[in-house]
Amino acid sequence: MAFSGAVLDVDGTVVRGNDPIPGAPAGYRRIREAGIETLFVSNNPTKAPSAYVDRLGAAGYDVDADRVFTAGTVTTRYLSEHHADDELLCIGDPGLFDQFDDAGLSTTDDVAAADALVASIDRDFDYDDLCTAMWTLERGVPFIGTDPDVVIPAPKRDVPGSGAVINAIAGVAERDPDVVLGKPSDPAIEMVRERLPHPPEECLVVGDRLNTDIALGERAGMTTVLVKSGVTDTDRLAAAGVTPDHVLDDLGDIDHVLG
Ligand SMILES: [Mg+2]
Repeated sequence: MAFSGAVLDVDGTVVRGNDPIPGAPAGYRRIREAGIETLFVSNNPTKAPSAYVDRLGAAGYDVDADRVFTAGTVTTRYLSEHHADDELLCIGDPGLFDQFDDAGLSTTDDVAAADALVASIDRDFDYDDLCTAMWTLERGVPFIGTDPDVVIPAPKRDVPGSGAVINAIAGVAERDPDVVLGKPSDPAIEMVRERLPHPPEECLVVGDRLNTDIALGERAGMTTVLVKSGVTDTDRLAAAGVTPDHVLDDLGDIDHVLG
């Protein structure tokens, strides 16, 4: 099978923290040498693509800003398309607010003025935030999540991600989000298709997480490659009952897929 495009996850697939995963830079070069167009897609909502160019570059991955997008990019675009004139009450990290500011989106702290609630990873999330979110949703406004990742890798051990904040709010509001963006959502698939305009069957999706990376590949009709260098080990894979098209120890083994 000759591939023309590849969607690559970032954390757990090409880097761990700021360090390259052993073998992965060589695998990335191999993909590029095979003439395959690459696109990095991260579910981290707190960073804009420009931050990834620097971070990936420092780890040995040469990449342009238009070859990277994040759950922050998907969320910002979704809001610009559906809530451009709305006041957004956002529970999230400062980096997400920066992306909203750059896009001209308007945020508010005023529950009574909010036209929608956006929930995301927030390292300062507390009881007052939970009250604010609950009172906002009592008004019946749309409930939007940036990405579904309940747990995310951190240098020492895993920590709660956006999904944990979204679930806390959903629990107290007794209401599911109307939409959760990032991988594997439809808006993320749409952005992948725009930036990798190849037939889905000619595209690879490589990632370490089953319910985001592999799910996106399956939903988009692409060839899925799970790497065991991140959050999914052999036991978790067996327990999940999901069958990626290929399972590799890390991206350095990509020759097994490329042939
Ligand atoms: Mg990952």
